[in-house]
Amino acid sequence: MMAYTTANTIEEFRQHLADVHARIGAACAEAGRDPATVRLLPVSKTVSEERIRNAYAAGCRELGENKVQEAHRKWRAMSDLPGLKWSVIGHLQTNKAKLVAEFATEFQALDSLRVAEALDKRLQALGRSLDVLVQVNTSDEASKFGLLPREVEAFVKQLPAFASLHVRGLMTLALFSDDVAKVRPCFVRLRELRDRLLQSAPDGVAMDELSMGMSGDFELAIEEGATIVRVGQAIFGARKAPDSAYWPDAHAAGQR
Ligand SMILES: *Cc1c(COP(=O)(O)O)cnc(C)c1O
Repeated sequence: MMAYTTANTIEEFRQHLADVHARIGAACAEAGRDPATVRLLPVSKTVSEERIRNAYAAGCRELGENKVQEAHRKWRAMSDLPGLKWSVIGHLQTNKAKLVAEFATEFQALDSLRVAEALDKRLQALGRSLDVLVQVNTSDEASKFGLLPREVEAFVKQLPAFASLHVRGLMTLALFSDDVAKVRPCFVRLRELRDRLLQSAPDGVAMDELSMGMSGDFELAIEEGATIVRVGQAIFGARKAPDSAYWPDAHAAGQR
């Protein structure tokens, strides 16, 4: 595993962003792709407002967060920053759809019609729309969210019913592993699924985006066709502990 150094100052964020863009550029060169076809989504979960403001000053104009309440709180606190967009990349419960509808420009973890319906209702009421990606479980791990690949085609056919949701493509979290032989098939599965869906997706449903790859594996994801990479630690620095440690009772958090 790579050691991720923490960025605090604007200058440190400039450096980390430049490093990540250089890695994206090198991976694209390797794969014969245009770097303009890969969007970097910096992931700021657990990062303080003060540090996020420095990342903004260094050029970050969009941020991914995986917990809705944390994202909503940060959006409120930083609504003075012009042009800053928020993307929710973690599982959503229907009772929090209202929050997402209020502030997010993108939701990458759509995996149920109930959530689609709840979001659409709230968005319509606010006169807003939302870009969405359908989350796919490409690693067969029971613990992860997302639809199974074989469920996605039928699911996507239902989505035009929700007029305020603009479907853009698919998202996945690969297996957490240092072993390329285990990670790559997840990315390949997502790309192949997308390629099949390009034939069958209904009107109004776009399948251009493949959101896959994080700090440890985004070069591999780019090689396999990623158009969005979600990068946290390589920009902000190592998170101190797994997400479960941010709750007082790690066992209860693990069962959420
Ligand atoms: C935290 C997170 C990332 C980024 O992971 P890093 O290891 O920090 O790059 C990407 N996607 C999702 C869904 C996440 O929750």
